[in-house]
Amino acid sequence: MRRIIPSVDIRRLSMLAAAVGFVIVSAAVLGACGPTEEAVEEDTLEIVASISILADITEQVVGERAEVSYLVPIGEEPEEYEPVPSDFRAVSDADIFFVNGYGLEAWLGQLVENICRTRVVAAAEDGPTIALEGTEEPDPHLWLNPEHVRDYYLPAILAALTETDPDGEGYYRENAEQYSQKLTQLHEYISKETQSIPAGRRVIITSENCFKYYAEAYDFTCLGIWEINAPEEGTPQQIARIVDEIRDREVPAVFIESTIDPRYMESISSETGVPIGGILYSDDLGEEGSGAETYIDMMRHNTDVFVKALTD
Ligand SMILES: [Zn+2]
Repeated sequence: MRRIIPSVDIRRLSMLAAAVGFVIVSAAVLGACGPTEEAVEEDTLEIVASISILADITEQVVGERAEVSYLVPIGEEPEEYEPVPSDFRAVSDADIFFVNGYGLEAWLGQLVENICRTRVVAAAEDGPTIALEGTEEPDPHLWLNPEHVRDYYLPAILAALTETDPDGEGYYRENAEQYSQKLTQLHEYISKETQSIPAGRRVIITSENCFKYYAEAYDFTCLGIWEINAPEEGTPQQIARIVDEIRDREVPAVFIESTIDPRYMESISSETGVPIGGILYSDDLGEEGSGAETYIDMMRHNTDVFVKALTD
């Protein structure tokens, strides 16, 4: 799995030049809509995913048959991402572009506007949703329940791969079956490990309230400083509200997410005297050496952090 690295030159272009870059990219894409020589000769499958977590899940099915890359860099919030010129190129050159859907990639519209051959698949969108508080919009973080990954993401990924590359069907099916079993084992691990946390201490406090699907599956309550990542993060009203909640519920720990500025939670921790229980991976995989380099490892890591911080 590799991340698409934009060249430094492109990144440093002014807004104007970036806009010109987009026009050039668009023109190239439009040109590629006809049967070009390149399209005829090309026989290697190219797969792009929006976020690192989805790329890893996809890679488990794709195996050796193709390279999977992703757009949102490790450490960045997917909801607040702004595509760079190389992303337009990567997506328009791809055979399949896997996104989560349910509004996670609000920036998707501009990216897929001009593509013609890429199959865009919203891997989560058959799954059952929980609404964002105070709205009817779905919370997009379905992947934080491994049974949802097994039952919704995996079939969507498998279907797109076999339709795009029918020769690989048997191989993809076998990989998906093996991964499905690993996801069941992950679900069993989380169920078993979290049992040791006493009922009154099963509260997940994070910056973004993204653990709803995990909380629903494993019997936790979850609360965030804010409901979903957006330009309004950590306002005085949001901070005051969560401080009250933390005091009312006498929670044992609060948590920091890998993609979010830790200072919000650090100031809440010092104001309430509630310790920080650890770093969670919710919107991205961990860096090399973090112990959260794959989806399964990040979920095990999160679970171990909860158990350690919330158990007496
Ligand atoms: Zn998020």
